[in-house]
Amino acid sequence: MKYVSTRGGAPEAAFLDILLSGLAPDGGLYLPESYPKVGRAELDAWRLLPYAGLAAAVLRRFISDISAVDIEALCERTYTAQVYGQGRADSDAAQIAPLRWLQPGLALLELSNGPTLAFKDMAMQLLGGLFEYALARTGEELNILGATSGDTGSAAEYAMRGRPAIRVFMLSPHGRMSAFQRAQMYSLTDANIFNIAVEGVFDDCQDMVKAVSNDLEFKRRLRIGTVNSINWARVVAQVVYYFKGYFAATATNDERVSFAVPSGNFGNVLAGWIAKQMGLPIERLVLATNENDVLDEFFRTGRYRVRSAAETRATSSPSMDISKASNFERFVFDIVGRDATTVRALWRRLDEQGSFDLASTPHWQAVKDSGFVSGSSTHVRRLVTIRELHARTGLVIDPHTADGVKVAREHQAQGVPMICLETALPAKFAETIIEAIGREPPRPAGYADLERRPQRFAVLPADVARLKAYLEAHAR
Ligand SMILES: *Cc1c(COP(=O)(O)O)cnc(C)c1O
Repeated sequence: MKYVSTRGGAPEAAFLDILLSGLAPDGGLYLPESYPKVGRAELDAWRLLPYAGLAAAVLRRFISDISAVDIEALCERTYTAQVYGQGRADSDAAQIAPLRWLQPGLALLELSNGPTLAFKDMAMQLLGGLFEYALARTGEELNILGATSGDTGSAAEYAMRGRPAIRVFMLSPHGRMSAFQRAQMYSLTDANIFNIAVEGVFDDCQDMVKAVSNDLEFKRRLRIGTVNSINWARVVAQVVYYFKGYFAATATNDERVSFAVPSGNFGNVLAGWIAKQMGLPIERLVLATNENDVLDEFFRTGRYRVRSAAETRATSSPSMDISKASNFERFVFDIVGRDATTVRALWRRLDEQGSFDLASTPHWQAVKDSGFVSGSSTHVRRLVTIRELHARTGLVIDPHTADGVKVAREHQAQGVPMICLETALPAKFAETIIEAIGREPPRPAGYADLERRPQRFAVLPADVARLKAYLEAHAR
């Protein structure tokens, strides 16, 4: 399996070549040269596999430079009931990503029972294992530098903790995360985890990471890497649970299902698109946004218009507050028939004019045929959805998942089960839950004393020179 860039100007690469890298050298994103196809016999066999086995079966189709035995061992070590059974006590931990029916025809795929109680653990834990594996082959070490406003940073830290060849330097805005999110990250005392609270906002953190990454000599010398949402291995790890959800919701491989996905950077739902390309019988991919509706606008009108920082709103589903969707280019590459010249032209237009429009092009028909539909939600709809579901079933869902459920209901069709991906547990977003149902969200057993645990973090001003000095002192 070879990987190519969406901009067409980078040499073909193997999986391990692109594992530790972000953008391709030509500024594009890597995708497999073609998607592996899963035939009926294979699908029938996959239906019988436990999660770790299914993950290995899927990954093997995308990775030709790691042996099958090693892939299986990695997946067995990663996808355990112990790691993925920390969320809801009444869930089936042995299942990993269990399915829960909310009402006839509408189910929740529970992806948030991992250590940080959000779906990002599903891929990030595997990434930790893959990084360690790749570094061991060459004897190298890696310093991961990132910025977070919550979910990504903690998922990365929990995935990399205790791995001696890897250190994580995670910038977060000082005093601007929820007490739960702060405690989740800062209570990690592993020697290879460095929490850096920046005296500034999230954008300052991101700018500092960018500034360091743009200093190529510094980056190379300190062996600095990233784990952001364009990382290909994260996308491919997410493909697995679409298969898992499909098998759990159906009795045979003759049936079709639809998925609803609360979306931000288009990473999660991109994995659904890839599962569909592989041959998984998916009817609709329902993309849900919050008030930051860049992607909903595209799927309704054909116009992709990135938003300015001033136009990007801080909402009660904060992990979906995006101004542009970093993985979207991969989908567009497929939509334009994998013509890199067209992708380059569209992204040049985006850089120059802030938008492009596919509506009046031949590509719009391909978007219509893609199976994608979309919708958006608001703070009030989020509250209503959480309250209504809680009143009827006793289950509390988080604000992001509520956006998914709200939009899923608008697109349900008779006879086709709709599976909504659960992207976080409500315990992480107590303020909004209290507003919705008048009481604290349930908290998983192991997290009762989280905010009372000792915390370890360094405070730095929003100053690139100070960050570089800190990295010089602590990176290896
Ligand atoms: C990251 C995240 C999302 C958005 O996922 P994308 O892959 O960026 O589309 C949605 N909900 C939660 C809780 C998240 O952490």
